[in-house]
Amino acid sequence: MRIEIERVTMTYPGGRRALKDVSLTLGSPCLVGLLGPNGAGKSTLMKLLTAGLMPTDGEIRVDGRPLGACERDLKRRLGYLPQSFGLYDELSVGQFLDYMCALKGLSDSREAVGRALRETNLEALGRVKIRALSGGQRQRVGIAQALLGSPEFLIFDEPTVGLDPEERIHFRNLFSQAAQERIVVLSTHIIEDVQSVCTQLVVIHKGNILFVGTPSELIRMAEGHVGVFEEAGAGVSGDFHVASRVNTARGVSCRVVAEVLPPFAEAVEPHLEDAYLYLIHLGHKEAA
Ligand code: ADP
Ligand code: MG
Repeated sequence: MRIEIERVTMTYPGGRRALKDVSLTLGSPCLVGLLGPNGAGKSTLMKLLTAGLMPTDGEIRVDGRPLGACERDLKRRLGYLPQSFGLYDELSVGQFLDYMCALKGLSDSREAVGRALRETNLEALGRVKIRALSGGQRQRVGIAQALLGSPEFLIFDEPTVGLDPEERIHFRNLFSQAAQERIVVLSTHIIEDVQSVCTQLVVIHKGNILFVGTPSELIRMAEGHVGVFEEAGAGVSGDFHVASRVNTARGVSCRVVAEVLPPFAEAVEPHLEDAYLYLIHLGHKEAA
């Protein structure tokens, strides 16, 4: 499967432009992490990919065909976890998934539901009503419905919200397994979620794509732009962005990203998180 996004712009009816001239190609197999701060345009891009929204300009093609002409076909091949969606509170988890199977036109719903429950560790909760679930359990039900029928294109909008650390690790592994033969796109602003598993990262900021590449390529961009120094007493300020402050025995160790590091900072190897901050805050001033 191959998805081509070509020069797509999305302006909402109120006049808000959420994406500007965005181009991107995705081909299976891949696990793509879509990173960006709140309001960057991640959910808008994902809705465009599900044909839930139509772009105001540009084109999306699926295996060479314009999305508008193969919308039904795409939806059959797609599993989608929206950022927020209503679950049917009075149904049990199993009933809800069974209902979603019917909507998706899956004939063997028993098999599909059983498999999705297993993959999301929800087997013990199949008979529990959705209204009785915790936030993290609901999120797992959302992921389960996207997985029904093993679609070849999976889109997860902030899938790890509300999950505890152990569950996050579980899903990271699940996504990475699923991506061995599919296109999996997940959005997040948690770097840890994409750090070790994503083959491709797309950083989006204010409706512009700032970066497409591998995690190591992103890290390389920040080399020489990350430093640490001990902060004595009152905080220092300068032309840098603070990535973190950590208490140490000698005071506060301050980690910063900067176009040009201040003379009192010692340069260190960038982490993915530093590289992301560098890109968002300093790497692309013209995007502001
Ligand atoms: P993200 O998912 O990265 O947080 P979104 O795609 O939800 O970002 O939003 C991008 C921009 O589009 C934001 O400025 C947001 O306010 C705006 N926006 C999103 N949905 C709508 C909508 N339905 N109508 C108008 N503006 C919207
Ligand atoms: Mg969003």
